[in-house]
Amino acid sequence: MQALANYYDATAGVRPPRPALAGAVEAEVCIVGAGFAGLATALGLLERGMKDVVVVEAQHVAFGASGRNGGFVFGGYSLDCADLLAQLGPERAKAAYALTREAVQLIRERVARHAIECELVEGGALLANWFDDEAILRRQQRLMQEHFDVHWRFVPKQELREWVDSTRYGAALLEPDAFHFHPLKYALGEAAAIESLGGRIFESSRAIRIEQRHGGMRVHTAAGTVQARHVVIAGGGYLAQLVPALERAILPIATYVMTTEPLGEALHALIPSRAAIYDTRFAFDYYRKLNDTRLLWGGRISVRDRQPDEIARFLKRDMLRVFPSLCDAKIDHAWGGMMSYARHKMPQIGRLPNGLWYGLAFGGHGVAPTTAAGELLAAAIAHGEPLPAGFERYGLQRTWRPAGLMAAQATYAWFQTKDWWRERR
Ligand SMILES: Cc1cc2nc3c(=O)[nH]c(=O)nc-3n(C[C@H](O)[C@H](O)[C@H](O)COP(=O)(O)OP(=O)(O)OC[C@H]3O[C@@H](n4cnc5c(N)ncnc54)[C@H](O)[C@@H]3O)c2cc1C
Repeated sequence: MQALANYYDATAGVRPPRPALAGAVEAEVCIVGAGFAGLATALGLLERGMKDVVVVEAQHVAFGASGRNGGFVFGGYSLDCADLLAQLGPERAKAAYALTREAVQLIRERVARHAIECELVEGGALLANWFDDEAILRRQQRLMQEHFDVHWRFVPKQELREWVDSTRYGAALLEPDAFHFHPLKYALGEAAAIESLGGRIFESSRAIRIEQRHGGMRVHTAAGTVQARHVVIAGGGYLAQLVPALERAILPIATYVMTTEPLGEALHALIPSRAAIYDTRFAFDYYRKLNDTRLLWGGRISVRDRQPDEIARFLKRDMLRVFPSLCDAKIDHAWGGMMSYARHKMPQIGRLPNGLWYGLAFGGHGVAPTTAAGELLAAAIAHGEPLPAGFERYGLQRTWRPAGLMAAQATYAWFQTKDWWRERR
C-alpha cells in the first residue's frame, strides 16, 4: 500500500476557510508566515494590547514545519547546551535556555487559556542512550543541573524497560517538564486565538515584495497590500525570493516523519510510558505514541525533497532497529518538512538596518524557541524592549548556498559515520 502524506493534515478536522488578501489593508504590524514563529509573535503582540495585527501566509496556517513536526515540546535549541555554555558563558547561556523553559510553560498556558484541543500528553521526554556508555548520560545530567538548573532524572538500564521495551538502549535521562502534542491542532488553536483577539490572518497570500513607504513598510501580495508600521519575517525554511539578506543566512534542510497503522495493545507493550523518546546519536531517531495507537517516528535530514514511499521505506528500516517486532506493521503516512538552519545553529532574531524584524532559523528544535522568539519580538515591537544580551552573537552569518547545503549534508554524513563507529566500539 502507498503511504499517504501528512498524518496531521488527515486528523486536524475541519479548518475555517480564511480569505486571501485583497486590496489595500492597513495595520500596526504585518507578519509574514503563519508557522509557530509568526503565530507566536502575533499572539504575543495582541496579548500586549496591540490591536491591528495582520498575518499573511503563502499557503495555509502551519503549512510548513510547524504543521509537520514530531510534536516534541522541550527546552533548548538546535545548538546543544554544552556549545551554548561555551559560546555565551554561564550567565547568558542559562538565561537563553530559561527562555525556552518559559516558552514550554507558555504553550501549556495557551492551550489551557484558549481551550486548544491538541492531544497534549504530559509524559516528559526520554533521552535513551544508544551507546553502552553511562558516562554520556552522567555528563549531560551534570551539565543540565550545574549550569542550567534543570534536573533530568537518570533512568537505569534495569528500569528502562518500564519506559520503552527495546534491547537497543543502555540507560536514559528523563526530562520531566517536556510534553508532546498534535502540532497542527495547536497551530490552528493559536490562529483561532489570534482572531478572537482581533488579529487577521490571510491565507494563500504570499508576500512577494516589501518596500519602505510613508514611514513604515508596505507588503505586497499578488492581489493586495498591507501598509504597516512594523513588518516581521517568519517564513522559516520556506522563505524564498523576498529578503535576500535573510535568505543568504539560512539553509533550508528537510527532515522526515512517518506513522504506522494503529497498533492497539502491541504499542503500549512496546512503550508502556507516556514519554516522547529520542536517542543520544547525532543522527537520532525520535518517536512517540499517538492517541489512536499509531507510532509516530521521525529522523534523518537531507537537502533533498523526498516522496512519501521513499521516506516510509528508510524510516521503517530505522524503526526496525529499535522495534524488530514491528516488521509487519504497515506505514500509513510519511512526509517531510523544511527547517531553516543558521550556520551557528541558533535562531536568528533581530532587526535589519532598514527596520524589518525577523525570527528565523529554529532548525529541528523549534517549538519552544519559536514561542520564545514570538515573546521577544512582541516585547521589542510593543514596548521597545531590547533583545536579551548574547543573541547578537547569533547574527546573519552567510551560508553560501549551494555550497553550504552540500557542506551541511557532508557534515551530517560525517556524524552518522561517527555514530556508527562509536556503536561498533
Ligand atoms: C519533520 C520535522 C520534525 C520536527 N520535529 C520537531 C519536534 O519534534 N520538536 C521541535 O521542537 N521542533 C521540531 N521541528 C522543528 C520545528 O517544527 C520548527 O523549528 C518550527 O516549526 C519552525 O517554525 P517557523 O514558524 O519558523 O517555520 P514554518 O513552520 O516553516 O512556517 C513558515 C511559514 O511561512 C510561510 N511563508 C514562507 N514564505 C512566505 C512568504 N513570502 N509569504 C507568506 N508566507 C510565507 C510558509 O508557507 C510557512 O507556513 C521539526 C521540523 C520538521 C520539519
